[in-house]
Amino acid sequence: PVRVRFAPSPTGNLHVGGARTALFNYLFARSKGGKFVLRIEDTDLERSTKESEEALLQDLSWLGLDWDEGPGVGGEYGPYRQSERNSLYKRHAEKLLELDHVYRCFCTNEELEKMKEIAKLKQLPPVYTGKWASATDEEVQEELAKGTPYTYRFRVPKEGSLKINDLIRGEVSWNLDTLGDFVIMRSNGQPVYNFCVTVDDATMAISHVIRAEEHLPNTLRQALIYKALGFPMPYFAHVSLILAPDRSKLSKRHGATSVGQFREMGYLPQAMVNYLALLGWGDGTENEFFTLEQLVEKFSIGRVNKSGAIFDSTKLRWMNGQHLRVIPSEELTKLIGEQWKRTGILTESEGPFIDEAVQLLKDGIDLIPDSDKALSNLLSYPLHATLTSPEAKPVLEDKLSEFSASLISAYDNGELLSALEEGHAGWQKWVKSFGKSLKRKGKSLFMPLRVLLTGKLHGPDMGASVDLIHKAGIYGVVAPQAG
Ligand code: GLU
Repeated sequence: PVRVRFAPSPTGNLHVGGARTALFNYLFARSKGGKFVLRIEDTDLERSTKESEEALLQDLSWLGLDWDEGPGVGGEYGPYRQSERNSLYKRHAEKLLELDHVYRCFCTNEELEKMKEIAKLKQLPPVYTGKWASATDEEVQEELAKGTPYTYRFRVPKEGSLKINDLIRGEVSWNLDTLGDFVIMRSNGQPVYNFCVTVDDATMAISHVIRAEEHLPNTLRQALIYKALGFPMPYFAHVSLILAPDRSKLSKRHGATSVGQFREMGYLPQAMVNYLALLGWGDGTENEFFTLEQLVEKFSIGRVNKSGAIFDSTKLRWMNGQHLRVIPSEELTKLIGEQWKRTGILTESEGPFIDEAVQLLKDGIDLIPDSDKALSNLLSYPLHATLTSPEAKPVLEDKLSEFSASLISAYDNGELLSALEEGHAGWQKWVKSFGKSLKRKGKSLFMPLRVLLTGKLHGPDMGASVDLIHKAGIYGVVAPQAG
């Protein structure tokens, strides 16, 4: 059975790279009818925090990547935090010792440093050359009796190679002669990271290890431990790096990189998931729009690209717009209404004014928070203000003075407002007669009219815009600071 895991370290925020790894694991599990396990790798007690773990879980839930086993949901392979699995690591370390895949190393730090220096001078790899790899039982017992501290060191075959068939990168092989015997348990009894991961993956019956490319060097050590413990080797799939547009490694200096930041900026989880999936994967067609369900249906690990994927925040924003446009109207109205109320542009979060305003403005925005600017732009141009706005100025040339004078008088004598009381039909009727009185129609009528009434050369439907500006007054929904 397919069992995959996402194994974050709770030492910071979930960034887009981690989220993509989680997503690929999730998609693989769901597409194969397997299980998606969440394991918290908190062996680094100094850097791991509870807050960070909670934020990780929250971010994953927000993205909709629900896990079948792990913190909060349990499961038969638990516990799912490395800090709670110490006895398991200990047991497997003892087993490796018994099988002689591991030996006790009583070397002091000074001795180890010396070995490294000598290796450096001789231009040899820094492999362990101490005596404890071949010490006799008596020698070991003697040190034990003295209480000398020791580490558990893994015996690496001195020659030959190891290869894996990575599902993304193809065959990857390593020569073993430069690796050297490595420590799996420190003298204070703390198991070492690579050892924990292997014991966990093996005892959690993980079938496929899908993770970031940067873990590839760990795979060699982990594969050796797997073999020594006699567990069947999982399949490996190492996903390439996420790069910034300048092809350097994506980092904070390139702007927002954590899932939480994007959420706060108003991104939709469905757009985030869609975009992350495209970082290194595609279904082989031109299509780029996928819901999570569609991704589950289409995903295949064989289609994941082995070269680095570029994170393009402009495209992510565009993608958000694509997803925004398929949100059912009622739901979108609710989201935008809440946004307007929350940011204080309106006093209410629902009502007929909001329904109309959303219909008018929704096509012009890519992110829900964009709607703030769209509405305040629209409402911040009452007639008198527009007449003096810099945008209106170029249109207010001499030859248009008759035009603006007529418009001001239509406003002052109430003609325009009473037309608006009659809704769209009233507006249309008024525009027609206003045009007639000035002998203008088409562009020469509508352009100056738009600029004068809305302060903009372009924008959503003018009748609806003017109507909305007017209704904002009637409904009294506009918060005072927006006026
Ligand atoms: N805990 C590791 C990390 O946060 C992941 C290790 C793994 O997937 O094997 O990068």
